[in-house]
Amino acid sequence: MSDGVAACCTATVLGGLFPSQSGFKVATTKNTANRTVTLCAKISHNLRRFQDYCPNGLQVEGRAEVKRIVAGVTASQALLDRAVVSSADAVLVHHGYFWKGEDARIMGIRRRRLATLINHDINLVAYHLPLDAHPQLGNNAQLALKMGWQASGRFGAQEIAWQGSDSRNETAAQLAVRLAQVLGREPLLVGSADRQVRRLGWCSGGSQSFFEEAVALGLDAYVCGEISEQNVHLAREAGVAYLACGHHATERFGVQALAAHLAEQFGLECEFVDIDNPV
Ligand SMILES: [Zn+2]
Repeated sequence: MSDGVAACCTATVLGGLFPSQSGFKVATTKNTANRTVTLCAKISHNLRRFQDYCPNGLQVEGRAEVKRIVAGVTASQALLDRAVVSSADAVLVHHGYFWKGEDARIMGIRRRRLATLINHDINLVAYHLPLDAHPQLGNNAQLALKMGWQASGRFGAQEIAWQGSDSRNETAAQLAVRLAQVLGREPLLVGSADRQVRRLGWCSGGSQSFFEEAVALGLDAYVCGEISEQNVHLAREAGVAYLACGHHATERFGVQALAAHLAEQFGLECEFVDIDNPV
C-alpha cells in the first residue's frame, strides 16, 4: 500500500468505530486499497456532522503500518515522549492539535511536538466531540457504565450531555464519594449536598455551559468536568447539586475504551498512558 492509503487506513479503522455517525462498520483492516479510501472519505464526511473545534481523525500522518498505539487524553509532549519510548506507530488522543482560533504558526512548543511526531514517523489520531458523544465508547457512555446510571436522553449543544437516573437513591454527598472512588479524585460539590439524586445530567470535560439547561430540565444533580464562578451561585439558588469532577479525570475512559476496542477488534497493541493533570 502507498503511504497515503495506509495512513488513511488508520483513520478508517478508527473512524469505523463510530458506525452510528458514519453508517459504516469496518470489519477488517485487510480492505483493498480502493475500499479503504472509499470508506475513509465517507466516514470523514460523517464525522464532520459535529461542529467541532478541531479536525477529527488523522491529524498528523506517520508511518504506513500501524501495529502499536499509545493512547492518552491529551497529545502533550510528555505523552509523545512515552510514545517514542514505546516505539508506538500511532498516538490516539481525545485532545489533539489545530484548535480553532489558536496561533497557526509552527514555533516553540508546537514545533517541538510536531517534530517529535514527524521525526519518529508517528501518526497522531484525535477524536474530540465524537469521542464524547459515542453511544458505547464515548466518555459519557463509559462514565454512566462505571457509575451504574441509566441513560434516558441527551441535552446541551449538539446533544453532547446525557441525562438519566440513578436507582441507588443516594444524596449528592454520597454520590460525590462514589465518584471519587471511580475517578480517583475528589469532586468539588456545590449546591445542595443533601438532595436525593434520582435524575441527573452528566457531561465530560469543560461542559459547565450546559448547567443552566440541566437546571431547567429539573435534574437533581449535574456531574461534569469543570466549574465556573457563576455555576456556584446558580447551583445554590436552584438547589441543584453541581459536582465538578475534573476535565482530565472525566475524559480518561473514552480513549481507553476505544483503545481496548482496537486491541480486541484489530489485534493492535494498545497502551493507555495517564499523564496526570489536576484540572
Ligand atoms: Zn476535553
